[in-house]
Amino acid sequence: MKVMKFGGTSVGRPERMHQVKDLITRSEDRTIVVLSALSGTTNELVKIGEALAAGKKEDAKSIIDGLKQHYKAFCEELFQSFNGKNRASKIIEEHFEFLNIILKISFNESINKDILAQGELLSTKLFYSLLEELGVKAVFLPALEFMSIDEYHEPELQKIREKLEKVLSRYKEDTIFVTQGYICKNHRNEVDNLKRGGSDYTASLIGAAISASVVEIWTDIDGMHNNDPRIVEKTKPIAKLSFDEAAELAYFGAKILHPASIWPAQLHNVPVKLLNTMDPDADGTTITSEVSEKGGVRAIAAKDGITAIKIKSSRMLLAYGFLRKVFEIFEQYQTSIDMITTSEVAISLTIDDVTHLKVINNELEQFGMVEVDHNLSIICIVGNSIMDQKGVLQQVMNCLEPYPLRMVSYGGSRHNVSVLVEAKFKAEVLKSLNAGLFSFD
Ligand code: ADP
Ligand code: ASP
Ligand code: MG
Repeated sequence: MKVMKFGGTSVGRPERMHQVKDLITRSEDRTIVVLSALSGTTNELVKIGEALAAGKKEDAKSIIDGLKQHYKAFCEELFQSFNGKNRASKIIEEHFEFLNIILKISFNESINKDILAQGELLSTKLFYSLLEELGVKAVFLPALEFMSIDEYHEPELQKIREKLEKVLSRYKEDTIFVTQGYICKNHRNEVDNLKRGGSDYTASLIGAAISASVVEIWTDIDGMHNNDPRIVEKTKPIAKLSFDEAAELAYFGAKILHPASIWPAQLHNVPVKLLNTMDPDADGTTITSEVSEKGGVRAIAAKDGITAIKIKSSRMLLAYGFLRKVFEIFEQYQTSIDMITTSEVAISLTIDDVTHLKVINNELEQFGMVEVDHNLSIICIVGNSIMDQKGVLQQVMNCLEPYPLRMVSYGGSRHNVSVLVEAKFKAEVLKSLNAGLFSFD
């Protein structure tokens, strides 16, 4: 079996949905099709939640109305038959009635998750109806019946596997299954999600759960590029990446993949392919356990919204147990640390989730002076064993020479050098590294 995941832009226009239908039916394998919401929808749903949280019901109402118009126009074009249009109109009414009811009740975080789930519920139901209209036999597989996370927001892979096996064995003759990306149930059995961009994660979790032959992530670009194509010109797709390289790039900002989407596939050794819905025959990127023999830097990514915390304390001097105490504070507030550097008298680290920053700071102050800097970016430079290759670090540093570096992390893994810069330098740094490291490719 295989998994094919289509992102927002791949289902965001009626003609693209038809293309998705062509792609899933040309495959001969039994396939679980994972769909995101139509592009732009989740952003609008986020805005509805924000408006409601701020008590601005009229603003929320006008976003809901605008979105409904969009879906009506979309379906008018998507469906040709009377039955198809009728079914679509019922789906739209059902989900927008739900959103309108929410306007009347008091808002809370759990309702917000229900709002956010509407995008994937709509896209999959509409796509399933399109398959019906076109006479393509498929099974609708509600993600809320098998995708779950525990109280620490971690996916329950074993449970997911058991539930999926059960459903799939009920449909032995069927070859196409349609399900939602992103959404799941939490430990309280409420609707929840796998965070923004989470449909990639869904695909990888399903791939691991069913030991798929491949997880295909279909998007709007021909694979993982060697630098951020939104910022740098003339970036190139990378044909092959190892799981470790892809995980570093995804974690450190390559938006094409959700940060956590590699580990499930890696754990079960399921290859992941990044493919372009708009150019289905392009090679894309294949991610496997195989480590490339090609040396040097393979790719660069950047992660925004980083906050650095420095704890300066002469008491720390060589004291054992000090780092443990510092880390325990972050653990207590479930805040993960990205980068870390230490000196004799200070420790600097970075976080991207500032929800608990204030309490963390208060607790850290018992150890010494705490300084906080916001608006930073981590630039991550990835390549196989770049640590072992002569001159690579020198080359990287030459490119970075004009920019003030707040932190440098080297040696944490053999594949990665990361630097922390002010966000305002990010674009220049990415371009400078591109020119200095890839110009002879
Ligand atoms: P989808 O909606 O299909 O999930 P995303 O917008 O989440 O698609 O991811 C695809 C986008 O990721 C591309 O359009 C591209 O602009 C952006 N991107 C950022 N960094 C990279 C990179 N290194 N390689 C390829 N795409 C990247
Ligand atoms: N629709 C969700 C989002 O926009 C999930 C996804 O697209 O992967 O974040
Ligand atoms: Mg995405």
